[in-house]
Amino acid sequence: MSPAPLSILIAPDPRLKTRARPVREEDGAAVADLVPRMFAAMYEAPGIGLAAPQVGVGLRLCVIDLQPENVKTPLVLINPSIVAASEDFVTREEGCLSLPNQYADVTRPARVRVRFHDLAGKSQEIDADGLFAACLQHEIDHLDGILFIDRLSPLKRNMILRRLAKEQRQKAAG
Ligand SMILES: [Zn+2]
Repeated sequence: MSPAPLSILIAPDPRLKTRARPVREEDGAAVADLVPRMFAAMYEAPGIGLAAPQVGVGLRLCVIDLQPENVKTPLVLINPSIVAASEDFVTREEGCLSLPNQYADVTRPARVRVRFHDLAGKSQEIDADGLFAACLQHEIDHLDGILFIDRLSPLKRNMILRRLAKEQRQKAAG
């Protein structure tokens, strides 16, 4: 029997605001179990990135797949950190599986270098720009309990949270 699918937490769940702890060697079995289930939940949603805190797991781990030209290109990042960021910024519309149907323009460094461990425990570094750079920063933010709406003005943030709460109530009622 396959394990129950993971459910994705919806804001304002307090677990989304909690800083995740680093993955350690003894987490190996839990991580090996979690990663394929996170990909399944992300593809099902569908989304291009998912961080462990979004499924209620407080570990510094996220999965990304931008599916260039509709080809699955899964990437697992364990204990990722931004080691360099460009001085120029770009603004891009973002959404989040924990804030369904909510989108807003977010400004972030245009390019980043990210260091992480892969599933085999090997240290890796990638340079990213465009959508990939934004996605990496968005997912790493999740590990620090930061949602993209936290990078907006309080006015904009509250507007989105109110709209989301209303839609969730309607969904529950409908
Ligand atoms: Zn997100």
